Amino acid sequence: MRLQHLRPDQLQTALDERWPLLLPTGCIEYHGPHLPLGVDTIVVEELMLAVAERVRCVVAPPIWYGPASHAVTGPRQGSLDVSTERFGRHVKDILAGFCDMGWHWIIVGVHHQGLEGPESLAIRQAAAEVMFEQAQAERGDGWWGKAPPDPNDNVFERIQVWPSVLPAAAEQGVEMADHAGYYETSFILATHPDLVAQDRLGMKPPWYANTPQSKAREATPASARRLWAAMVQAWVERLSAIARPKRPPPSQTVVRGLF
Ligand SMILES: [Zn+2]
Repeated sequence: MRLQHLRPDQLQTALDERWPLLLPTGCIEYHGPHLPLGVDTIVVEELMLAVAERVRCVVAPPIWYGPASHAVTGPRQGSLDVSTERFGRHVKDILAGFCDMGWHWIIVGVHHQGLEGPESLAIRQAAAEVMFEQAQAERGDGWWGKAPPDPNDNVFERIQVWPSVLPAAAEQGVEMADHAGYYETSFILATHPDLVAQDRLGMKPPWYANTPQSKAREATPASARRLWAAMVQAWVERLSAIARPKRPPPSQTVVRGLF
């Protein structure tokens, strides 16, 4: 379910049952002549929507305008950079707002520049500050020092920042350190094939779309399906550890009852 589609009664159910809220983040950045500017955000949002088909959770609208940097191109080719510091403060406001709304678990998804890039570091700092401030507001001075923390209610786990490619997917051969190459081209082929134009790579593709390890031209619908399935499965497994899986369809329930 998408947050922006919820009615108040549905929101209340999600909060009461502690469904995780998934928040995609990303940026607008040049991704070669063959891919759209929104690759990094599209990947995270589509991943979360696919996960939401299988695990009870709510997907929030993405934070689109992260610090892209001008490492790949300048602004005229379509990369939009913003201040990392001001971006982090904006993200902090959003995370604090979601905590105030009553979400118990918030999972922020990042693809652009991995977990060590400026965008991700700004989000992680914002998340850490919000968790401390929320705990302080809820529990008062000495909230950590008064008694041992409840292992079933670890405030430091309430907001988590996950990369698009989790370790379980990396073990299946999915790479995150790729810009507009084989992997990102596959991810967009898997989710929005209409947005990919591999014929635009021409005779001289950008170097990063044509390295020995990662050639955008070699992405195919089959590679896309395989890599995407591994990414989604890794997220489903990790999220299932903190959220209940969706109820099986009624027919399956009946069959199980008959036996
Ligand atoms: Zn990218």
